[in-house]
Amino acid sequence: MKNINNTLCEDTSNIENQNKYAERVRKIINEKISREKRPLYVFIQTFGCQQNEADSERLLGSALSLGYEKADSIENADLIIFNTCAVREHAELKAFSKTGQLKHLKEKNPDIIIGLWGCMVNQEHRVDEIKHNYPYVNFAAGTNMLHRLPEILCDVLETNRRRYYVDDSNYPLVEGIPVKRMSDIKAWISIMYGCNNFCTYCVVPYVRGRERSRDADVIVEEAKNLIESGYKEITLLGQNVNSYGSDKGEVSFAKLLQRIAELDGEFIVRFMTSHPKDVSDELIDVIATHKKIERHFHLPIQSGSDEILFKMNRKYTTDAYTKVAEKLKKAIPDIVFTTDIIVAFPGETDEDFEKTLVMCDKIGYDSIYSFIFSPRKGTPAEKMENNITDAQKNERMSKLLSQHRERIVKINKSYENTVQKVLCETKKNESGCYFGKTSGFKLVKFTYNGNDNIYGRFVDVLITSSSETMLTGKMI
Ligand code: SAH
Ligand code: SF4
Repeated sequence: MKNINNTLCEDTSNIENQNKYAERVRKIINEKISREKRPLYVFIQTFGCQQNEADSERLLGSALSLGYEKADSIENADLIIFNTCAVREHAELKAFSKTGQLKHLKEKNPDIIIGLWGCMVNQEHRVDEIKHNYPYVNFAAGTNMLHRLPEILCDVLETNRRRYYVDDSNYPLVEGIPVKRMSDIKAWISIMYGCNNFCTYCVVPYVRGRERSRDADVIVEEAKNLIESGYKEITLLGQNVNSYGSDKGEVSFAKLLQRIAELDGEFIVRFMTSHPKDVSDELIDVIATHKKIERHFHLPIQSGSDEILFKMNRKYTTDAYTKVAEKLKKAIPDIVFTTDIIVAFPGETDEDFEKTLVMCDKIGYDSIYSFIFSPRKGTPAEKMENNITDAQKNERMSKLLSQHRERIVKINKSYENTVQKVLCETKKNESGCYFGKTSGFKLVKFTYNGNDNIYGRFVDVLITSSSETMLTGKMI
């Protein structure tokens, strides 16, 4: 991929350089607000993973700092941004389909600015499609442009030209981007960006660049401020969090997690995603000793066949994976495992797939996020011969899901009559229920008959029944 657009300002890695553009954007927006005697609204829709959710909170924060207000609905918006995902074709098609639906809004009001952001847009062939098929899209910008929203909007507002920013050569690590968080009790903190692993099926290293770890002191300070302002759950995010720091050689992920877990205050900390090859003894030790770190480990296995793992370039065997899981279980007996699985990777035989089922039973996952292999342009697996029919793909997927269903019903049943500590994440709903999660990330629906406001509080819930999808109980 190459730089499609010229950069507009000299040092694009510097947030201060955005200030002059921000001033110009604010002026244009304020003039429009005075003219039309109404606020201007921004609407941001996110596709894909938690890292995208976290990025969208920064896009929203930036837009609000420029003078926009948050729109209740897309119909009212003056600025619409779709933050896209490229991990599977389905996510890309969804973003395009939603973009297609914006045409009538633009026809009604040509002043609306429409932007496509994120991973999908960091691929040249997708930008070509946007250029040709969606002429009403004003701008497209990749993940590495996050701090440059003022500059991009300034360009669009002043020139009315369509602009496309795709640049895989420069992935700066920029601090200080304004953020508007979606929740007032749960916060994401991206601790690193990018990925170095190049799993053969995955587009992430191409669209998010190489691993860049944020400074540990800055992350700890961010966590401290969030906790002091009332946040109860901090989730540390990265494509491969447990290799945090390896690009800098300073603070390891285990040390970073420990520093956060040792902060004062009543809160819990979660993290995702971890790569099985990077689970150190030090990390296991830190989780075992710190009660503020939740007992949930998302450890994507992808396949239970060593041949397929090798073709995926996952850099571990099922044996090595099992050893890591056993070590974790020994040190932290109540740990809950969840995983990702790709079904029908090129060359996967019935025997390979059966081995995946065996591994799932052996580890006993509480949740499985399963995906049918989706060829991604430019990745090695795209070129691998793949003779698996659609019927076989669907059959394997439904086998995996039904095996999982049987297991999870039993696992959830074992929670009945136990007391679980839960962060109350919602206000009371119409049927008088609240929702939260256990330490192991299980959804809990519960009742509470008192009058206190329990939103954002840690409460003890007696589990009285269970189903495939959740635990149900009452606060005690
Ligand atoms: N960094 C994380 C998440 C990557 S994307 C990790 O390594 O686990 C989330 C999940 O999407 C992956 O774990 C994988 O199971 C799935 N995935 C990635 N690329 C895919 C593809 N081309 N087809 C199907 N599933 C894919
Ligand atoms: Fe993709 Fe593999 Fe990196 Fe995860 S570890 S983001 S699956 S390349």
